[in-house]
Amino acid sequence: MNNTALSDKITPLQLEHAARCISRAKTIAIITHQNPDGDAMGSSLAMRYFLQSLGKTEITNIVPTSFPDFLAWLPGVESIIQYEQQPEAAAAALRDADLVICTDLAEAGRVAALSPILSERFDAYAQSSAPDTTECPDSKSSLLIIDHHLSSVCSSHPEQIAYPDCASASELVFRLAWQLQKLNRAVTEPSPSRLRAISEGSSEVHGFLTPEFATCIYTGMMTDTGNFSYNSCQPEMYSIVAMLLTTGINKDAIYDRVFNAYSSDRMRLIGYCLYHKMKLFPEHHTALITLNRKEMYRFNAKSGDMEGIVNLPLQIKDVHYSVFMREDKIPPHQQAEAGDAKVKAKISFRSQGDRPVNKMAREAFRGGGHMNASGGEYFGTVDEAAQKFIEVMPKYLQKD
Ligand code: 5GP
Ligand code: MN
Repeated sequence: MNNTALSDKITPLQLEHAARCISRAKTIAIITHQNPDGDAMGSSLAMRYFLQSLGKTEITNIVPTSFPDFLAWLPGVESIIQYEQQPEAAAAALRDADLVICTDLAEAGRVAALSPILSERFDAYAQSSAPDTTECPDSKSSLLIIDHHLSSVCSSHPEQIAYPDCASASELVFRLAWQLQKLNRAVTEPSPSRLRAISEGSSEVHGFLTPEFATCIYTGMMTDTGNFSYNSCQPEMYSIVAMLLTTGINKDAIYDRVFNAYSSDRMRLIGYCLYHKMKLFPEHHTALITLNRKEMYRFNAKSGDMEGIVNLPLQIKDVHYSVFMREDKIPPHQQAEAGDAKVKAKISFRSQGDRPVNKMAREAFRGGGHMNASGGEYFGTVDEAAQKFIEVMPKYLQKD
């Protein structure tokens, strides 16, 4: 494709860091966040395909918890080690890797029971004064973050690839592959025609751009923008989509597999949530839905079935904030912090326009996230969490 308008967003420092980490590493673990969504799965699997295109063979994709059925068709999914199914293999792969790559993830606390191991890696990285110059690839401090959340480790290490203004981590994986490939080609094949093709963004020079890679990237971009209906005004996003489509992938089929693949139980659950459970707070333009364990059991709700329900009330005129809370068991690694609580509420926050929800998620619900899409949790029942939300709502949510 000619005249592709894609700027070099990733800085030379970040590119160099990524290139060094990757070229030195023999064994590489790719990990993403717990309860992985389309972007988490897409970005981490695309990373695998990119590394394979560079000739890397010892790559392990790890997910901390199960992933929803509507993502189980993604290419490369069969290679994933899921911690809950293979705890020892997942822990060993993460601990022993020469390089750990986190995609859609920048916090060691968001990988469920693998948090202590990832924390060690983050700490070792943070303490190594000059991670880029260490000559020892098995120092176990080699870390590459590719994410669109900001975290403290990223703010103090500008060589990590963290762009909160980017709609998806998958887009960043694409940009990394694209920029690294350009760099490599320019270095290894500096013929005039090559250089011209590279500067014009010709897809034929990009060896990483396979249908598998493109499918994973497209899925992540599509899911984190609600099929390009929010956070989707940056023109370059569509230059990337155009390049992905040159591989022959069928974007409509991908939409169908992700968004038209739910169970009838889920449809009934949605009906129940909207009819019986949605509370509106007109003064604050807010909707709140809670689901306790009994209700989830009644509707046979499985992991992934609750995905996206939080977005639905935003379709109501004058509702600008939406909150969804569901009850979960307290996993073993959180039992000490949970104290007397028997359950926890997992909370999703969404908003439209210039109305941040991440401050409330961070300060009141132990979470964080993006301006318009955040999450958090509360140790206690969903009713108790709802009570707390109603108390703090006037402090954090705008009235207009
Ligand atoms: P979701 O509501 O889809 O679970 O999460 C939306 C966004 O909120 C995620 O992409 C992530 O940025 C953020 N998020 C969700 N849960 C948590 C959490 O427990 N801690 C933090 N720091 N961020 C979260
Ligand atoms: Mn994401």
